[in-house]
Amino acid sequence: MSRKPIIAGNWKMNLLKAQAKDLLEGIKDYVKDYKAPELPTIIIAPTFTSLSAVESVKCDCGCGGNKISVACQNCHWENSGAYTGEISVEMAKDAGCDYVIIGHSERRQYFSETDEMINKKAKAILAGGLLPIICCGETLEQREAGVTDEHIATQIRAALKDISSEDVAKSVIAYEPIWAIGTGKTCDSIEANRVISMIRNVVKDVAGSKASEEIRILYGGSVKPSTIEEQMNQSDIDGALVGGASLKADSFNEIIANTMKTMKQLV
Ligand code: PGA
Repeated sequence: MSRKPIIAGNWKMNLLKAQAKDLLEGIKDYVKDYKAPELPTIIIAPTFTSLSAVESVKCDCGCGGNKISVACQNCHWENSGAYTGEISVEMAKDAGCDYVIIGHSERRQYFSETDEMINKKAKAILAGGLLPIICCGETLEQREAGVTDEHIATQIRAALKDISSEDVAKSVIAYEPIWAIGTGKTCDSIEANRVISMIRNVVKDVAGSKASEEIRILYGGSVKPSTIEEQMNQSDIDGALVGGASLKADSFNEIIANTMKTMKQLV
């Protein structure tokens, strides 16, 4: 079956409102010449403070609403309450988000997020009508110790615990080897594809074959315009979560363009 590719830009803690708006304008300017089915699912993930800038641009757009989706970079699993510094799923939805990135290695590493927290977030996001982009990935030490597959499988089993097969099918997973994030070192495409098909097998085991065939699994880690075509030509890589190269319209648009070259067989 053919899964529609996703190109998601994780803007991390970058860009002020005006810059976020400019970047979105640059992406919109590129996608305006294409019909939605020709494009991959395009997602941008600004900071919380830029969500309003991006939402207002999206509303004026006329055609962009269904061509570019918005994600936020985190949320809490509770609906409301005394959780200083957090936002709820309902707030993310209210701010125009369709997706929420969860379990990014930077959040696991710097903010002590655990697999259990990520599972609670995934459940809350799905219950609230949004879709989680669940990140997983191994450190260089884990890769060198030969425990990559075991570590990733544990992360995925924990993240998907007690989630229905229907909800798993709609979710998105991003495999991001930590040693490849922001380092310029991309994981070899064949190896990234191998890990991603291993993840698909774990999904099959926990949620059945339909969910494993439908779930979109992305690669992330130093994705560039020059790497995306080879990555997209792999059997199990359904798109990319892009950090650094998503901060400039030119490089992000080129990633979209090169992805479209590989989508011809889908149309
Ligand atoms: P990078 O970041 O593309 O800058 O490596 C990817 C990510 O962290 O999602």
